Amino acid sequence: MADHFNHYPLKHFAATVADCMGMTLPETYAPPISWASRILKSRMGGTADRAVLYHADAVGLYIWQQYTQLFAPVYKHTSMAIPFLSTVASVTPVAHASMYTGLDPEGHGIKTYVRPQLTCDTLYDQIIASGKKAAILAMEDSTFLHIFTGRQMDYFSAKNAAEIQEKALELIESDKYDLISIHTFEYDNAAHAYGPESKEALNAVSIEAEVFDNIATRLNGFAGKHRILLSYSPDHGQHLTEGGTGSHGSTLLEDMNILHFFGTIQ
Ligand SMILES: [Zn+2]
Repeated sequence: MADHFNHYPLKHFAATVADCMGMTLPETYAPPISWASRILKSRMGGTADRAVLYHADAVGLYIWQQYTQLFAPVYKHTSMAIPFLSTVASVTPVAHASMYTGLDPEGHGIKTYVRPQLTCDTLYDQIIASGKKAAILAMEDSTFLHIFTGRQMDYFSAKNAAEIQEKALELIESDKYDLISIHTFEYDNAAHAYGPESKEALNAVSIEAEVFDNIATRLNGFAGKHRILLSYSPDHGQHLTEGGTGSHGSTLLEDMNILHFFGTIQ
């Protein structure tokens, strides 16, 4: 059977989120997936005034295919899943740069595992320019804290997913941020060390799904007050190496195909 790569490149992520928030991005951005944003906006009864984007690093589509039950905590809060195709190379800075700039790697300039501060326009710059407040909450040394640094927004880091959850709940409770991006890599770390389908890695999928569940549950307390867009959005997958550990960066299906989940609270 031929390899079936997902249809939508990650560069459509920024404009899709922006469209859900009622923002039109400059033409440099790949266009929104408008059928999806239309459905999400109709569920919310308008545009989102809040977005919380959770990035569980390196969770591939085939992990969902083979271990679907691990995603029950994500299903609980989401109503739409969209298959996305990661970038070439399928590594964190390349993929997250495309997700937040709407550009191919040639456009934003990060084509390999390098983490310069991006000087081109990002979704964060658009959010800030429209008078909204943005925050990044990420595990220590996250790519987010390198490539999206230097902007008029707040940056927070924490050691692990448990501490990220604690901080996320605090930020949500402050009711101050219009857009919060959250990045954890418990699965990525475990999959690199023990293999993408090892019990350690699968346990990390569950840990991150529980973090998402707890964040979404807290956001539900704002129903009636805000229209909130929620997403669970990995950047790439991982494949098993001959040595039994995990790796990514290739154009293998396991690295390229990912699945995003979107939900709304209103
Ligand atoms: Zn990654």
